[in-house]
Amino acid sequence: MRIGTVESAPSTIGKGTLTLGEYPDGSAITSPVIVAQGATKGPVLWVQGCVHGPEISGPLGIQAFLSKLRLDALRGSVVCLLTANPLAYRDYRRFTPQDGANLNRAYPGHPEGALSELMAYCSFSLAAEIADAVLDLHSGGDHLVCAHHVYYHDDGSALGARAAALARSVGAPFLCNVPANGFVGAAFLSFIARGKPAVLVESGGGARVTPEDIENHARAIRGAAALLEMLPADDAEVSPQQGGELLVLRSTRGGVFHPTATQGQTLVQGDEIGRIVNLFGEVVEICRSPLTRAWLAALRRPHMPVYSGDEIAELSALA
Ligand SMILES: [Zn+2]
Repeated sequence: MRIGTVESAPSTIGKGTLTLGEYPDGSAITSPVIVAQGATKGPVLWVQGCVHGPEISGPLGIQAFLSKLRLDALRGSVVCLLTANPLAYRDYRRFTPQDGANLNRAYPGHPEGALSELMAYCSFSLAAEIADAVLDLHSGGDHLVCAHHVYYHDDGSALGARAAALARSVGAPFLCNVPANGFVGAAFLSFIARGKPAVLVESGGGARVTPEDIENHARAIRGAAALLEMLPADDAEVSPQQGGELLVLRSTRGGVFHPTATQGQTLVQGDEIGRIVNLFGEVVEICRSPLTRAWLAALRRPHMPVYSGDEIAELSALA
């Protein structure tokens, strides 16, 4: 199997690059790619990180997974695309600097599209051809801290059931079943539309990386590989909580955000999530959960200045 410049061979970890476009000087826009090929043939698990530039927990989780991987125990191949958006990664930005696009709204991409659509197309078309399952590793971005959770799409079909099983396999304590039109252009939804089970795993963010975030992403790869019977199932099973539709809560005032809740917390209607405090130290807004019962999936970075209308939290409704 050839992935970019990597010609993989049994029982090896190959490292190279995958071309996703060209710079104005004609040189290649590339992402580092790693292919871990087991001793025996089997499924292909595609893992990608840095769809959003600063979300480095994904590549660090991939490194952590590979550092403990025993190739003699692996069946099939794990293909790791380390910077799905190398331009955003280089520029420390969430979106592609050249066209301002969110790569995770540009899938499946287009070979004659704008730069982000082209980059999405180059990796997506390859993954859609060779992969049996896809993990898209995220970490909230610089402005939000995400609790450990996973997004998938199960429409009740056989493919939906495989996507749900993949979501349960990654070891996250919380699952979100996103409708097909939930995040139009997201990688995981585009893979599912192409018949491939795929999930988006979130852990951490807020311009910092914790050892837990790295381990959560490494655990996600081990769990998905175990589900595909590529590796023995060594991790303890997790019984995740199931959440409903996501609600984005926004500030109505500008100031500095002071959280009073913690991501991953369960809230009832009226529970305080945080406060907007102006530069005179006065509380100008108290942000509360409007949902009867909800799980706090993501929270604005502590003490971050916010505009009126900025996202403060993401809530997933609980039954
Ligand atoms: Zn992200």
